[in-house]
Amino acid sequence: MYQDRLRLDGNIAVVTGGTRGIGLAIGRALAEFGALPILAGRNEKHGAAAVDVLKNAGFTAEFKSLDVGNSTAVSALMADVAEAHHRLDIVIANAGIAIEGDALVQSDSDWQNVLDINASGVFWTVREAARHMKAGGTIVVVGSMSGLVANVPQKHTAYNASKAAANMIARSMAVELADKGIRVNAIAPGYVRTDMTEGGIDNPDWFKVWSERTPLGRVAEPEEIASLAHFLASPASSYMTGSIVVADGGYTS
Ligand code: NAD
Repeated sequence: MYQDRLRLDGNIAVVTGGTRGIGLAIGRALAEFGALPILAGRNEKHGAAAVDVLKNAGFTAEFKSLDVGNSTAVSALMADVAEAHHRLDIVIANAGIAIEGDALVQSDSDWQNVLDINASGVFWTVREAARHMKAGGTIVVVGSMSGLVANVPQKHTAYNASKAAANMIARSMAVELADKGIRVNAIAPGYVRTDMTEGGIDNPDWFKVWSERTPLGRVAEPEEIASLAHFLASPASSYMTGSIVVADGGYTS
């Protein structure tokens, strides 16, 4: 039955940056289909709050402390989860940051920070996950449409470059991991209503601009991206690997 292939019963699923926004919505979607989401992030307080959100909705979840910009920490987390649960089925490389700024004046440290988290952090997450996965394991990278097109009119060269790297890490690792039976795919969302877009950007008119430029006439809600992550993480997408699946309301069409 097709609906059985959407189930994730007993699966152990790590979601980096899983304590809010798209990551938390993905954690919930995976839990709804039977997985145990392990929400990994930097802030213990946010982690406890996110676990409570899922608990209050009737699901079980765990929090693990993680900075994806530290390869040793990423390696330790994947090893800990695999050892504690005797399996690692799904990893969602979702953690990311956006530092906007005119490229001609942006500091070297801002550039480096964005690349460390959005590109190196994704690579380390995929690599360390794969070391502990068995055949059937699935990895989903949360890339961005910003890795495919420059998001006019913002000044986002570091972010765009980092997301192009994330998209390509997914494609390349899909090829490298295919013979182990591990699938890797990327999601390329358009604009999504989260703290990243609501809190991190100083121009309140951006939502209006983005909505006008999006054929569907609005930005996405995190749940509309989470459903795609769930599909790519599940056996329902068993013939997909190395894909970059765009969910952007038609923005890049
Ligand atoms: P968000 O800021 O709400 O969530 C990002 C999460 O990543 C936060 O929990 C944050 O603490 C965590 N994080 C950041 N750096 C980390 C690190 N070093 N280690 C561990 N966790 C870290 O934003 P969001 O919109 O939910 O973003 C989730 C992902 O989706 C990001 O990769 C983002 O680039 C991507 N994305 C977002 C949009 C959008 O419009 N919101 C569009 C396309 C792609």
